[in-house]
Amino acid sequence: MKLHEYQSKHFFARYGIPIPKGRVAANAVEAKHIAQELGGRVVIKAQVLVGGRGKAGGIRLAKSPEEAEEFAGQILSMKIKGLPVRKVLIDEAASIDKEIYLGITNDRSARKPVMMASSAGGVEIEEVARDTPDKIVKVYIDPLLGLRDYQARDIAAGIDLPRDHWRIFGQIANGLWQAYRESDATLAEINPLVITSKDQLLAVDGKMVLDDNALFRHPDLAEMRDLDVEDPSEIEARKYGLVFIKLDGNIGCMVNGAGLAMTTMDIIKLFGGSPANFLDIGGGASAEKVTAALRIILTDPNVKTVLFNIFGGITRGDEVARGILAAMNELQKEIPLVIRLVGTNAEEGRQILSDADMITAETLADAAKKAVAITKGDYKQ
Ligand code: GDP
Ligand code: MN
Repeated sequence: MKLHEYQSKHFFARYGIPIPKGRVAANAVEAKHIAQELGGRVVIKAQVLVGGRGKAGGIRLAKSPEEAEEFAGQILSMKIKGLPVRKVLIDEAASIDKEIYLGITNDRSARKPVMMASSAGGVEIEEVARDTPDKIVKVYIDPLLGLRDYQARDIAAGIDLPRDHWRIFGQIANGLWQAYRESDATLAEINPLVITSKDQLLAVDGKMVLDDNALFRHPDLAEMRDLDVEDPSEIEARKYGLVFIKLDGNIGCMVNGAGLAMTTMDIIKLFGGSPANFLDIGGGASAEKVTAALRIILTDPNVKTVLFNIFGGITRGDEVARGILAAMNELQKEIPLVIRLVGTNAEEGRQILSDADMITAETLADAAKKAVAITKGDYKQ
């Protein structure tokens, strides 16, 4: 789950990280009032969950409340990388002398969090990593020891930060680490952390990504989820405990188990098809779950067929088969399904399905070939 910039920065502030004064607005008039309160120059920032807002015109400096109103109105009617802007953040404008990058993420191969910093701030870190990788300084954090003071100093020295900023930089780096650790984040990023013309450090932008699987430990953070900006089918799926990610192909996938789902997508591709979604319906695969999942898949008008790949362990094949028939009965949609069942009671399941004139398959390859043939209009019984 991604947090908006204003949410991330508020969270950072709890850990002593200095952020600009500011508030969010949902319309231009509100933006004007906030600008009046802040007095003078403000920056208007689109709150959308993508990077590169600056380049896309989603960040504007305003010299007066009237200008703030005008720019907020413009930004609120924009789409950035396909996402509508529903809120803007009005922050006191900082006059910036230097922009620094500071972030923490997990390094899976090192099996540790890594703190990264760069004197080339403001730019997306992926760009820096590609063009000038030597400008990135990294330290690995032992999760049991935390960020050590000498590590923060190493970073400060590595990015040529002037000495008089080291102490406060150490506090910010440590605050960012605490924020990351205590929220079970997978990314905590300040880009840019700026040195202002008054020689102060300030977190001008903030970004956090939280681990969905740990959100149950953070109800206050889970509450910050912005449903407005998520795909409605993904929200619906979460209600039923399904892991669903929409893709742009035309073969719907209904699979139990994440690994099996990945394999199914690979095999579809191998036979020249294109999956419409990733879906893990998890264990059990009850009629209710199957119906919910099918309903979600079939809201996508691109879907021409749905491939079921169900491995029966605890899940029984005959139960899945009945679930599929019940779901089709309830949904009343004319769409061919290709069903591959293996494992417990697979034989019985297949029998039930072929009695109901459904297309079944014994192997995944066979199922994928049939599904691809259906989408290309050359399937023969
Ligand atoms: P992003 O483009 O989505 O990463 O949004 P940022 O919040 O990082 O803003 C992009 C750029 O806009 C920053 O790198 C700064 O150069 C500039 N910017 C953001 N806030 C301010 C501000 O308060 N004052 C000034 N002068 N520039 C700002
Ligand atoms: Mn940024």
